[in-house]
Amino acid sequence: MSPTPQGPTASGRPLAPEAPGDPYDGYRRFARIWSRAVYPATATSMTRTEFEDYLLPLARALGEALHARPFDPSPGRDVGAALVEAHCTAPEALPQVLGVVDAYLLLYCSDPAVLPTEEGRARCARLQHAVSAGFARALQERTRSEQEALARSALAARESAEKALHESETRFRAVFEGATVGIGIADMDGTVLDINSALAKMFGGSEQHVRSRRVSDWVHPDDAPGVWRIHEELVRGERDHYRMEKPYTRSDGTVLWTNLTVSLLRGPDGEPRYMLALMEDITERRLLNLRLRYEATHDALTDLPNRTLFFERLEHVLSPGSGTARIGLCYLDLDGFKTVNDSLGHSVGDQLLVNVAERLQSCVASPRHMVARIGGDEFVALVSDPASRSEVTDLAQRALDALSCPIPLAGRELPVRASIGVVEGPVGELTPAEVLRSADITMYRAKARGGNRYELADPDCDARTISRHMLTTHLPAALEGGEFFIEYQPLVRMEDGSVEGAEALVRWAHPLHGVLGPDRFIPLAEHTGLIVPLGRWVLEQAVRQACEWQVRGIGGTRPLRVNVNLSPRQLHHPELVSETVAVLEDAGLDPASLCLEVTESALIRADDAELKPLRRLADLGVRIALDDFGTGYSNLASLRRLPATTLKLDRSFTRGLQQDPADPVDLKVVEGIVSLAHALELAVTVEGVETAAQADQLRKLGCDSAQGWYYARPGPPERLSSRALPLAAGQ
Ligand code: C2E
Ligand code: CA
Ligand code: CA
Repeated sequence: MSPTPQGPTASGRPLAPEAPGDPYDGYRRFARIWSRAVYPATATSMTRTEFEDYLLPLARALGEALHARPFDPSPGRDVGAALVEAHCTAPEALPQVLGVVDAYLLLYCSDPAVLPTEEGRARCARLQHAVSAGFARALQERTRSEQEALARSALAARESAEKALHESETRFRAVFEGATVGIGIADMDGTVLDINSALAKMFGGSEQHVRSRRVSDWVHPDDAPGVWRIHEELVRGERDHYRMEKPYTRSDGTVLWTNLTVSLLRGPDGEPRYMLALMEDITERRLLNLRLRYEATHDALTDLPNRTLFFERLEHVLSPGSGTARIGLCYLDLDGFKTVNDSLGHSVGDQLLVNVAERLQSCVASPRHMVARIGGDEFVALVSDPASRSEVTDLAQRALDALSCPIPLAGRELPVRASIGVVEGPVGELTPAEVLRSADITMYRAKARGGNRYELADPDCDARTISRHMLTTHLPAALEGGEFFIEYQPLVRMEDGSVEGAEALVRWAHPLHGVLGPDRFIPLAEHTGLIVPLGRWVLEQAVRQACEWQVRGIGGTRPLRVNVNLSPRQLHHPELVSETVAVLEDAGLDPASLCLEVTESALIRADDAELKPLRRLADLGVRIALDDFGTGYSNLASLRRLPATTLKLDRSFTRGLQQDPADPVDLKVVEGIVSLAHALELAVTVEGVETAAQADQLRKLGCDSAQGWYYARPGPPERLSSRALPLAAGQ
């Protein structure tokens, strides 16, 4: 790479939060901090300011690599090499460099709107690893050329010793003692004759510790295989030098890792005379690399192997030369984790994940099993060479059993459930991506069957199922291509059965898979952020539809209202208020004819600042409904501070009222909620009314309005405009 500084006009994508609009500023700040920290550890002839200019393009390279899709850490290696080129080679330089990257790169050179923090951290660790690798390689190259020059002069000195003894001995001493690399000379028996002070220092300062031993005494349990065979070849004169990384034990028992080059010095007759060892202390660098490697391959929260390590292992196991015949994979996804996270907060969610990780880890007994966390609440257990299919299904069952006992957190006992997709089969037929896809589809099948269970992959079933991955990648084009449409489900007044409005429910007319319900794609759109444009589209359509109903006088004297679902991500979108107001104004709809439905779990933990946009909308007259009420962990008293006008009681409450006579406990619960809601001046809408008996009970209990198949299923907007109003029950 070229380390010449570029001007502020060069394009750079990340926006440092302190410097909106000018990414150059973020890089400049980063380069400044970087140069301040590292300059004292460099032997450069540049001034500090010149050095900062030198670092600027390196900062840019790191920032751009951080955001690149797909991610490629290799620019980090170039940065490492450029640092060596600038003589940042003192032992403390690399730790300083990495410390600055660790602490400030994300802060100044990253845009959290583009790069989620967790991903940013993982990428940052991998970049550090690359910087360190590039640094080590460049340093090695440099040391190698230095070492070669030294070996030449040492040999010359020894050879001429007999002739011009004094003069050349002095010159040799100067080179020998002044060198920053450790130098040791031994005779061909392996007796150490001489070492320089750099080498003595590496070993802990005691010359005696090194001199009292022979070369062959320095066996270390972590020696690379074959080291001593190669050494013997050198002693026999069959090779002139070798080079390797070798550990030694210092006088205090600690380990010294070196980059060792041993050369054979021959006499004028060509016979081996001495061995010259040149050693570079790489202990720090090695430890650092081990730490970075660990960080890049482990999940910071749970300490389990992360996605990167899991894929490395999976790829290895599936590769032809691995010697593995079969593999098993359990793909586990927690049921309802989002609700815990939304209603009890991320820190409780995090603790729950840590607990789950510990329990899962306790299920594995064999080194052939690996548990990893590969996403928010997604874990995998990989089994190499399972003895039988039941070894893998047993593991899945053990995982479910391990989770079956509630986790005590935040003063409650949180039940944990999970769905697991199990794949087991011979290696050689599937790629890593296919194994994972199959496990993912199977996990979804387990969820669809109620969760808290495992399912075994079935290739026929896989072929019919559409993977989440496929749907996710097609979502943006589907929105562009107009593949979404909206159905409306009437909301009926309990007192007289008249229609007061309708809820807009989005569907996807998928060209291959037919009509898909929102449960299939809303979570994916929420995850990728597409929910924002999709939600805006739904809002526009629904508001326009409500206008049309009103213009056509449908609903009689009382204008029909439209209910639109808002997902948590939309709730946090900065333009929520302005866009909603613009949509209402464009269509000319009274804000009171719009009701936004927000789930209880998304709202309950929101602080005042987060509630502000909704409060603004409520002040403008827009109605706010708390959707799926009763499924979160909310405390009823906290409802007071929410800007809600309506409470939508979740279907799970009305289920118990289907039977005749109704479940008395359910009756009491609903009655209690209704009276509390009314005390708080909230209207109550019940969801999922399927039978006349339910409708009857709910009316008696004082519910204001209802929605459900008993009245009407979701359908095209014309259904509401037809002359069938008010709808006949059960239509
Ligand atoms: P929701 O808001 O709770 O919507 C009610 C769901 O219950 C709808 O499912 C509806 O078809 C279904 N339903 C209505 N009456 C009955 C009944 O009597 N019995 C039963 N068993 N089900 C009934 P749908 O259309 O599949 O929607 C699922 C969820 O998708 C919705 O749940 C809502 O959370 C979400 N959703 C739908 N459209 C949108 C949208 O435009 N934006 C966002 N963010 N979410 C949406
Ligand atoms: Ca809803
Ligand atoms: Ca609902």
